This record gives sequence, structure tokens and C-alpha cells, in this order.
Amino acid sequence: MTLRFTATPTTARDPPAELAPDGSDHNALYFSVKGFIEEHRRQLAEMEPLGDHDLDQRRRALIRKADDHLALLERRKAEAWDDEVIRALLSKLTMDKGPLVVKAVESRAKKLQPWLLAALIMASVLHALAAVSRADLQFVLKTLEVVVYGAFAYCNASSGSASSLTAAQSLLLGEIPSDIRTVLSRLDLEPPILEYASCPKCHATYRPDSKRPKSPYPERCRNVITDKGRCKEPLVPDDGTTHPSRTYPYHSLNAWLANVLWRSGLLELCRNAWKETSGQIPCYKDIWDAPALRAFLGPDGKTPFSVQPDGSVHLVFSLFIDWFNPFGNKKAGKSHSIGGVYLVCLNLPPHLRYRPENIYLAGVIPGPTEPDVDQLNHYIRPLVDELLTIWHRGVYLSDATSAWLIRAALIPLVCDLPALRKTAGFASYSAHNFCSFCLLKKDQIDNLDRSTWPRRSRADHYECARKWRDAKTEAERERLFNEHGIRWSELLRLPYWDPTRFALVDAMHNLFLGELRHHCRDVWGIKVKDAPPNQGKSRGMTPHTPVEQQRWLETAASYISKTLPRKLDAVRKGYLLAIAELNGAIPASSQPTKQKCIHALMDWYRKNQSATIKLPPILPEPTVNFHLIKGEFDVTKYQILDQDTISELRHDIAKTFLPSWLERPPRNFGSPSHGKLKADHWRTVCTVSMVITCYDRAYPEFRSCGEGKRRCRSTDRG
Ligand SMILES: [Zn+2]
Ligand SMILES: [Zn+2]
Repeated sequence: MTLRFTATPTTARDPPAELAPDGSDHNALYFSVKGFIEEHRRQLAEMEPLGDHDLDQRRRALIRKADDHLALLERRKAEAWDDEVIRALLSKLTMDKGPLVVKAVESRAKKLQPWLLAALIMASVLHALAAVSRADLQFVLKTLEVVVYGAFAYCNASSGSASSLTAAQSLLLGEIPSDIRTVLSRLDLEPPILEYASCPKCHATYRPDSKRPKSPYPERCRNVITDKGRCKEPLVPDDGTTHPSRTYPYHSLNAWLANVLWRSGLLELCRNAWKETSGQIPCYKDIWDAPALRAFLGPDGKTPFSVQPDGSVHLVFSLFIDWFNPFGNKKAGKSHSIGGVYLVCLNLPPHLRYRPENIYLAGVIPGPTEPDVDQLNHYIRPLVDELLTIWHRGVYLSDATSAWLIRAALIPLVCDLPALRKTAGFASYSAHNFCSFCLLKKDQIDNLDRSTWPRRSRADHYECARKWRDAKTEAERERLFNEHGIRWSELLRLPYWDPTRFALVDAMHNLFLGELRHHCRDVWGIKVKDAPPNQGKSRGMTPHTPVEQQRWLETAASYISKTLPRKLDAVRKGYLLAIAELNGAIPASSQPTKQKCIHALMDWYRKNQSATIKLPPILPEPTVNFHLIKGEFDVTKYQILDQDTISELRHDIAKTFLPSWLERPPRNFGSPSHGKLKADHWRTVCTVSMVITCYDRAYPEFRSCGEGKRRCRSTDRG
């Protein structure tokens, strides 16, 4: 519906203007329908109750229906305003001028002497892959210069001429740089990075103004947040520099397309990807086969995106955002978090798609703390701006030999659950509105009948998100959020992006670190102590060696027998819990507090004065978290996997030949000493090792030979 307004929007955040009274046929129709419904609603509302239960029910239902229709009309008006906003912004982006033209920069490396090129590549490989420092590389490059000098001089002397260098030789020698930064720039290996200023307080980002090279950033943050007012935090330190206090490095999509995807010759592959399918059978082997991608419509809203007119390529990207500690996870106590915004081009076949050189790292979100919920929007805004241009207008890449018109869409957002909810604008997974697919509330989480789950829709989601964004006060925002569990996300500016269908939890977190770990630990009861060493109560504690463990156990026992509960407080909880469990002072698998544990032990001892206190066996390795070993392999409460099976599993892990891309799990799997397992470990244990072990146990005839449990399959088969 094309509606006309009394004003045109100038920014994306302008609230809707009034409808023009004499705008268009659609305006006239809009007013007449609205007037008709309002009039009928008024009449129904003014009617006296009829006293007839059935009739009154119907009257109320009619009023509700009228309200629904009026809300629908409001929504249509809001949508028409959004179209106006897009039109106004597109005209600013000069969309009518056709695609954005991006010239590929020809690599200067091609013009270098081959031997010099080899030297530069050696230096950059040492730097990038072997982590050789700048200072050490200076030594390598200087030595190289000496070697080449010597070679020239030797050749000159042996051919009878003077041993000093010719002018041409001196010139070549001068070409060898002594700094790795010069090497990287000569090889064009550094991507063009745009340094946005990031507000240290509210995370608002500011693009450097190329017209003002002396002060490219505003002095203070200009971000206005509802009724909280302007942020005003200084962006640039007042020490005379132009560099902002905190930067957000951003790598432009267009530059990546030109310098990486085009240069590496992958565009043809991307174009042909749309022709390939995994066949007619309903069998999806890859995300590329997904109906959501195949049936996805192009910018005109009619033609499938898979249809690429002559000379054009249609790309589909997935977006991944996550945070990590740049100093590694081992640094106890220090929590520092920086984020990565990565895009993967799904047109590429799976074996190329996830190679580091083909992944587009769009930005690095600065730390030290993660941006709060909606503050993340500031960091994805530059990307969304570029995605809008490439969707509506396209990007034209050309050089002397070829030309490509590229259009691209960002479809799946793939993250772990917390990052996913934050990026897409949903409430947390533990909130009242916990689901990103349906409208079930937390107290209905046990409803497993899928047919009764009310689905979310993009239109409703967008409406709630926009109301939240346009709210005038923080209180209003909070009220709206509590009601719907939705905040604004910049991704909603992409006209095709549907948060209810395109927000996905990644397989690594969901399956390997989620389901598989849960199943092994909580369902099958393998006691895998894989909490990070720096988490929980063990923070800052030194591990006790087996000898120390024995001493602490004996100390605890003597305190109990001498009835000194206060002194027991100095003993770590693990020892008390193990003694209490072993002697039956508390039920197994209960998790009491330390004080309750001490209380239970004293209680038990008072009632069983003559009893000797049994001491649990010590652990073979140093630990901060002493616990009771139940049997040789520490299989806890459920005993689904017995010790024979675990023993068999460990044997299989040790004896299996694995391809290099599968990570071998620890050979002592199931022992607390191997520490935190990685996603790859869980994957191999559950999809390879356990399968082999189960097979062995199910078909023992293929297994045993001679005494004991060790198998000899080849002789069985032979
Ligand atoms: Zn700010
Ligand atoms: Zn749901």
C-alpha cells in the first residue's frame, strides 16, 4: 500500500509523520476504512448491555475484532513510513546511479624481482605463521642483505671485474627492506582497515571524517540515549594526538570482495554454486541446500535470488559474532573480552568456506568488557550500511580482463546462545520470553506439543523492536521489553532479514559442548571434571599433592573424633564431603554447603561414637577439588557406562588411527586429570570412539582373542 505523508523523513530514526489528507487513492481508502471501523466500534461500545449472555459475548468479540483491525491499519501505516524512510535514505546513497564501482588494486608484488619476492614471502611467513617478532625479523632481513651483498661481490670478483657493487646491484640491494611492516605493505598483505572511534562509555562508533584529517573524530560522544541525554564522553585523549581513546577496526565488505574473493579467483566458483544441488531427494547435505536459501527472493521480491542475470554473482553470507579473552583462558581472575564479527561466504564449497584466508573478518569489537545488549548495534551498523548498498544497488568490480556485478545477502546469524540473543535483539534464553521461534513463556517451557506453540512473525517482531527503539524514555523501553522481550537490532534494517527464521545456534556450542557433554556427564554419569581451572571456588587455590591429600584427610578425621567443628572450617569442602559420603553421614549425590556438611559429620559421629572414621582413597594426581572416587574409573551415580566399558573406550581411543582433521581425545578420558575438554574432543569421543566401543561390546565375537579383553579383529576376519 502506497500512502502519502505530510512530511518526508530525513533520518532513519524520524517518527512517522501524519498521513496527508488528500494524498492518494490509498490515503482516501485508508481514511474511509478507518473511519468505518471506528464508527462501528464506537456504536458497539456505547450499547447498553443486553442482559443476554450469548449476545453480550458476541458484542465483546466484535469490539475486540474492531480493535484488531485498527491495530492492523496502524501497522500498515508504520510499514508505509518505513518504505518512505528506505526511499529517502536510498536517494541519499545515490542508488539511482547504478551499482557502486570498486576497482581492484593490482598487487605490486607482481613487479618485484622473483628472488626479492621469495625473500619477502619468507619474512612474512616467519612473521605470520611462525610468530617471529619484528626485532628478530630485522636480524633475518639484515643478514639476507649481507648474504646478497657477498654473493654480488664474489661474482663480480670471479668474473674479473672490481669487487665493488655496480649501480644496478646497489639499487637491488636497497630494495631489501629491514622492517617487516614494509614487507607486508610491499606484498599488499595488510587489509585496508578503517579505524572508527568507539565511545569508552556507550560504545557509539564514529567513522573518521576524511575531510578533516587533523581532527577526524568528534571530541566528545554525541550519542543521545532516550531521556538519559547526550553521552558527552571524550573520544580523543587531550594529549594532542588525533588517535581516539578506543578504536573499532573495520574492514570494508567492498574491499574484501575486491581484494580477497576476486583476487583469489573464487567468484566463478561462487556463481556456479547456485547450479549445484544435492539432487531431487529431500536430503540436505549442506546449509547450501537449505530451502530458506534456495527459495530466498531477490531485491525485486519476485525473482529467486538464485537467478543471476548475465555477468552477475549473487552471494549469501552467514554472520558469526563471539567474544573471547585475547590473553587466553588460562589467565586466572582476569576477565578481558574482545569480540570478532566474522562473515562466511556460503557460496563457497564447505572445504574452502571455513579456511581462515577465505573468512571475512569485518571488525574487532574492542574490550575490555562486552558491549551491553543493544550497544552491539553500533558495531554492526557499518556492516549493515554496506549490506544495504550491495543488496539494493550492487557492487561492480572491474579490471582489464573481467567485470562482475555482485549482489549479496546476509541470511543466517550463527552464534552461541547468549551472543545470538544479543545480536538479534531477543531477550536472554533464561528470560520470561525465552524462545526466539515461538511466543511460549518460561512457565510453559514444559509444553512439548509443537502444534500448540504460537509462532513469532517478522512483522510483529519488527513492530515491537521499532517501538522499543523509538521509545522516548528508558522506563518506556523497559516496559516494552518486559512485555515482548524484544529490543532493536540493526540487522532488522535489512529488509529481508527474518529474526524468527535466520537466527541459529551454532553446532559446536549446541551439539558438542552442549548435548554431547550433557549426555556423557549428566545422563551417563561419567565424571568429567571439565570446569575451567579458574572458575568457581577453586580460584586461586593451590592443588594438593597425593601426600597432602592424605594429610588433610587425617587432619579432618582427627578434628571429627575430637569434636572440633570450628577447626573443620579450615579444611577444604571436598575432603569433608568425601568423608561424609563414604561414611554415610549424608546421602550420596547431595550437594550440601560446607557448614551443613560439617554439621552432618558431627551429628553422625555423635550417634556412632564407637565407629572408626573411614577415609576415602586419595587421588593419584594433584587436585584443588578433592572428591570421592567410586571404583577404579570414577564412574558416579548412574553407572550407565561401567568400568569395563570405560576401560575399553580408553583402549580404543589410544589404538584408533584418526585422520589429521579429527582431534584425539585424552587417552584417560573420564579421569578428572585431563581438565577441560574441547568441542573437538567431545565430537571425536562421541562420534568415533564410543561407536567403536559399542560395536565391540555388541559383537564380542569380533573382539576377543586369547585371554583378556584385547581384540584381534584381523585374525577373526581372516
Ligand atoms: Zn558515548
Ligand atoms: Zn519456542
